[in-house]
Amino acid sequence: MASYQMNTPKSGNLSTPARPTCPNSISKVRVIIRVRPFLPSEIFSRNGNPLSCVSVLDDSSQEVTVHLKDQDTSRNECYKLDNFFGQEDYNVNQIFQREVSPLIPGVCHGCNATVFAYGATGSGKTYTMQGSEELPGVMPLAMSSILSMCRSTGSTAEISYYEVYMDRCYDLLELKPKEIAVMDDKDGQIHLKGLARVPVNSMAEFSEAFSCAVQRRKVAHTGLNDVSSRSHGVLVISVSTPSKNGSGDFITGKLNLIDLAGNEDNRRTCNEGIRLQESAKINQSLFALSNVVYALNNNQPRVPYRESKLTRILQDSLGGTNRALMVACLNPGEYQESVHTVSLAARSRHVANFVYSAQRRDTTDKIDMEAKLQAWLESKGKTKSNKKVGALGSPFFSRTPSSVKSTKKVDTWQRSAKAKAVSKQWISDLAERPQNVPDSNLVQNGGLVDPVMK
Ligand code: ADP
Ligand code: MG
Repeated sequence: MASYQMNTPKSGNLSTPARPTCPNSISKVRVIIRVRPFLPSEIFSRNGNPLSCVSVLDDSSQEVTVHLKDQDTSRNECYKLDNFFGQEDYNVNQIFQREVSPLIPGVCHGCNATVFAYGATGSGKTYTMQGSEELPGVMPLAMSSILSMCRSTGSTAEISYYEVYMDRCYDLLELKPKEIAVMDDKDGQIHLKGLARVPVNSMAEFSEAFSCAVQRRKVAHTGLNDVSSRSHGVLVISVSTPSKNGSGDFITGKLNLIDLAGNEDNRRTCNEGIRLQESAKINQSLFALSNVVYALNNNQPRVPYRESKLTRILQDSLGGTNRALMVACLNPGEYQESVHTVSLAARSRHVANFVYSAQRRDTTDKIDMEAKLQAWLESKGKTKSNKKVGALGSPFFSRTPSSVKSTKKVDTWQRSAKAKAVSKQWISDLAERPQNVPDSNLVQNGGLVDPVMK
């Protein structure tokens, strides 16, 4: 097996086709929702008549309005996102055809693309990305599509598969005693030192390498799922295509397909010890990812790639002309968990559409602090829910009457002295720090850092 090097095409000798640059008003990372069906056990425990907490209100325009409703208390929230795939038994194929397939031609032309499955444990991320032999997920579907394309373009494909566990990178194709070192070279390129890279010419070859490697991923039993993935699993399909300029050079693009570890509410998982530490790391890195997506979608001058190992590795695949898709997976029976997932996804997607200037930056920073505070308060379950779609679809940012409600919610909780102190510290810490430095010191949970959920 050859050693893996993360290479972004250099503009000089590569014929990367020009792609239209995204205007500010279009999200650069698309964020879509995928709701899994109720499982037989869930149908049984709800007396055969389960009601979903997720529905779509309006999908007439380029975006959809997703409505989350707690069937027990009638609390509800609305969020705007890029697309919605409902509970039909097998919506993975539709997601692949409509959202993932359009990314593939770019990869054969030297661009990078990334698909993340994001959501709580048990929400269907692994089902969506890996699938099963009978119902293949996005990973095998993409491999198959890339192999067909290779046949017509004369390209070749290779795969790597690694996991990021507790902020460390491990090769899953080839067992190694140590973690994979992530290094930057002087050109700012990221290298995963020694990561295996296997040529793939057929689906049989892919299945052989991949099915073996999947078994090595770190999983554990938690209170929410019998086999909960404790790491982010990343399949990289690299495609090398002979350059058309006759130089004998190759252009290389890659597709990163990521089954993220589930964000966890430890009040529900009953995690302890190492599970609790894993969970804190998972939630922290998911928050870091959401910060990167937010910065990209909002043209922020600095993208906080270095906040986590995963975002650091993906630095050459996110932003610029690269494309990305976040699939937020939902369990239809879990209202609060769905609110956490969708609010973070909607926050990531939000496009401020602003022109950067020193003066504007003050306003944006302040609003971002409010968003972080609000997300954290909600994750603690300290706020009561309201309907919160603003003018731009963000639950946190607009200054419409609905966002006034959001501010009120913070005020309500701030009545407690402890809450007041924490939120004050949170805001002043954020205000004093440069934008997007890690939030790891802000919320301590018995020595464990967990900014997303407790
Ligand atoms: P996660 O990876 O988010 O923890 P899983 O992918 O393991 O969640 O899914 C949780 C459970 O839901 C699994 O039993 C899986 O088979 C089931 N599931 C998810 N999506 C579907 C679907 N579309 N149809 C049937 N079962 C599904
Ligand atoms: Mg999983």
